Amino acid sequence: MSTSDKTFSKRNFLSRINARWPWLKLVAVIIIGIMSILDLLDITISRTGDPLSTIRIAPMSKHVRATTRDLNGKKLVALTFDDGPSPETTPRLLDILQEKDVPATFFMLGVMARNNPDIVKRASKEGHEIASHTMYHQNLIKISASAVQSDIEESRAVFNNILGKTPSFTRPPYGNINDSVRKFVKTPMILWSVDTLDWKSRDPNSIIAVTLDEVHDGAIILMHDIYSTSVDAVPGLIDTLRFNGYEFVSLPELVKIRQVNPLPGYAYYNFKP
Ligand SMILES: [Zn+2]
Repeated sequence: MSTSDKTFSKRNFLSRINARWPWLKLVAVIIIGIMSILDLLDITISRTGDPLSTIRIAPMSKHVRATTRDLNGKKLVALTFDDGPSPETTPRLLDILQEKDVPATFFMLGVMARNNPDIVKRASKEGHEIASHTMYHQNLIKISASAVQSDIEESRAVFNNILGKTPSFTRPPYGNINDSVRKFVKTPMILWSVDTLDWKSRDPNSIIAVTLDEVHDGAIILMHDIYSTSVDAVPGLIDTLRFNGYEFVSLPELVKIRQVNPLPGYAYYNFKP
């Protein structure tokens, strides 16, 4: 059979289908049309999983198109700093973040915030998210339910006094969560997916290396702003992650872009696309 014969028989076959089922072409056009519209609307379902079996899986989020379109489709990371604010280290960190134009999230201790209210106000004013790391950094799973409750309530009052509002996110110390923590922490609990181990290494190069090794789109990076070595690592960390195509977002921005509605009593470790 020659090439022209093949072409002819193919055309002949199509015209026979067209004659027998004239509506088939219309159906195909409708299906392709619907698929294109879905693609155009970027219809996907995002979900945040929870690796610990003791912690409930966060339910599927309602799919809402994010309004911050400029960050959509970008690789995102959230820098988070625990245990501060410290007058020795946090102002320098804020200078660096301001110079680099990077928003961060601070999981502050109520006791540190109470002693350094001006730093809390400055961080908030400069666009950083102020979140709670509880009042006294107790291991909440080792104390009584009423002790958990009073720690959480005391910290809420401190942040409310300084900023006029209570934090939207909480990070229980050591990431330890049990039923009383779930009950009395009135906000979503945000853990982390990249542990820089900055408190252990006290080495900027190691902090950057660990982060590069573990970073992913939607990562929550754990650091501590009370160590000068951690603050030393930040400029290089920001430049390196930017070089690798990452954009920095605060936690509220990240959850919004990833279309997750975090719920009180649930734990979140990352906000992958
Ligand atoms: Zn801590």
